[in-house]
Amino acid sequence: MSAAEMLGPTTDKNASAGSRWGHRACSPSTSQYISGTYESTWHTRWMANGCGGSRSRRGLASLGDVNVVEEYTGHVEPGGDAARRTLDALTITKLSVGPMDNNAYLLTCRTSNEALLIDAAADPERISDLIGHGPDRPALRLVVTTHQHPDHWQALGAVAGANGSYTAAHPADAEPLPIPPDHLVEQGDTLTVGDITLEVIHLRGHTPGSIALLYRDPNGHPHLFTGDSLFPGGVGKTTSPEEFATLVDDVEQRIFAELPDDTWFYPGHGDDSTLGAERPKITEWRDRGW
Ligand SMILES: [Zn+2]
Repeated sequence: MSAAEMLGPTTDKNASAGSRWGHRACSPSTSQYISGTYESTWHTRWMANGCGGSRSRRGLASLGDVNVVEEYTGHVEPGGDAARRTLDALTITKLSVGPMDNNAYLLTCRTSNEALLIDAAADPERISDLIGHGPDRPALRLVVTTHQHPDHWQALGAVAGANGSYTAAHPADAEPLPIPPDHLVEQGDTLTVGDITLEVIHLRGHTPGSIALLYRDPNGHPHLFTGDSLFPGGVGKTTSPEEFATLVDDVEQRIFAELPDDTWFYPGHGDDSTLGAERPKITEWRDRGW
């Protein structure tokens, strides 16, 4: 995509993010890093149980610059600092936004200073602070939405509109989005911003058009952004045995069969994990049915 083609969305249907307060509040408990494996106690909220409880949260107004911690563990606190890891070609910065501990991931090309965002989930002010306000801030070229659930796009209109960014999603999940995607992407498609190329992996079950996004680091392990289709401890929530079977099949065939154990994955809520940590559990997931 060239700058001349840039027809970034100008509508801003969601700038108020007013529905954030319409969500039931969730109470993500603390995840722990135990013996090299993330043991998350709350991921099941996104897989089977919905959410419950409440927690206090910070106010609506922008609180100024988001602090970025350069030590990356795969955990960020809801409403807290962002965490950044630096690869040879890009940086990956993770920020928890909104009342449901949604993760937004900013990928910035270190050569061109162009960026893409995975899930403008909520809190457009905090996402704007994350991108930065100075003349050296990256140019946000693209916002990718992993799937149609509203907690993953509350800030899509505001962020894409403010930055003149293209948007992308799978066609099967495009209709519910607040702005129509500029790019419809399917299994095997790629999205490129600067030196960052992401491969699209279609995972059917959590929603019909859920996608994961894969970055193959030529100098390291793969990095996989899974939306709500794969978490530490299981696949994403489904509402029927048929959807569950489809999702676990897709996750097994398109992710675990294709990618090595050292693939680091980044889910739509909560902490990261690796495929190696989860691979031994797939049979257990199938047996329990969620
Ligand atoms: Zn979801």
